[in-house]
Amino acid sequence: MSECTHDCSTCNADCGERKEKESFLKKPHELSNIKRVIGVMSGKGGVGKSMVTAMLAVIFARRGYKTAVMDADVTGPSIPKMFGIKERAKGGETGLYPVKSKTGIEVMSVNLLLEHESDPVVWRGPVIGGVVQQFWTDVIWNDVDYMFVDMPPGTGDVPLTVFQSVPVDGVIAVASPQELVSLIVEKAVKMANMMNIPMLGVVENMSYVECPDCKKKIYIYGEGATKKVCEKFSLPLLAQIPVVSDLAKQSDRGLIELFEGDYLENAATMIETLMKNLPEKKD
Ligand code: ADP
Repeated sequence: MSECTHDCSTCNADCGERKEKESFLKKPHELSNIKRVIGVMSGKGGVGKSMVTAMLAVIFARRGYKTAVMDADVTGPSIPKMFGIKERAKGGETGLYPVKSKTGIEVMSVNLLLEHESDPVVWRGPVIGGVVQQFWTDVIWNDVDYMFVDMPPGTGDVPLTVFQSVPVDGVIAVASPQELVSLIVEKAVKMANMMNIPMLGVVENMSYVECPDCKKKIYIYGEGATKKVCEKFSLPLLAQIPVVSDLAKQSDRGLIELFEGDYLENAATMIETLMKNLPEKKD
């Protein structure tokens, strides 16, 4: 054995000197039982991150899983509106309860705690990070097979706090083809690597529009950029979702649970398979 450098990060020997890496992970509420947590991230707002989060949650619920959405996009919370949830979240002696959607998906969002859902959230980063942590530690999530976390956009301070405090099992990046996809995916991959969280793949949203008459796909922002980036980082391109006016209408009217279309079915199957192959979590 070589001489001890006292730097455990460069050595994997199991000796008495080994110091465990400090973990910032928080324990969930003692009454919560959450099996898998998937983070959905994006480089910036408006690319459809919340839409993809909501659609994945709906697909997993349709497949019979107990599903939840944690809306960690605290300054731009859109999940309750997409699910048409008007009720406020209720708290008890022991903790805070998520609100159930029409099909039984458990949702927690800062919008469910504000007096008026149109109130702006004008908090600084550390406060926002603290709120998201509390969504994990103080909310009584029932039995949840899959929790989807709608992450704050970008790779800054707030998403970092979320990744540090919530034990995310895998992340998906959502990008639209008009963005600097390469840079965004690279940042997301690096962040996930730094946090030791597997990057499951990329969903390209608003990839194309389909001609209602001849069904031709028109790639307004060009074709192939996201695929190239995925190849560069050896990531699967999980899905390409077109611009669909029905999707926008359904999400605006709070009816996302009624969406049709199989844009994310393969992506959901891939996520399901990857998650099933992960070792069981220890409490
Ligand atoms: P983000 O969470 O990235 O900020 P959202 O999911 O809130 O973005 O989407 C932004 C807007 O774009 C919403 O009004 C949503 O309904 C709409 N939208 C997202 N994806 C699509 C799509 N594939 N087709 C049509 N409208 C979409």
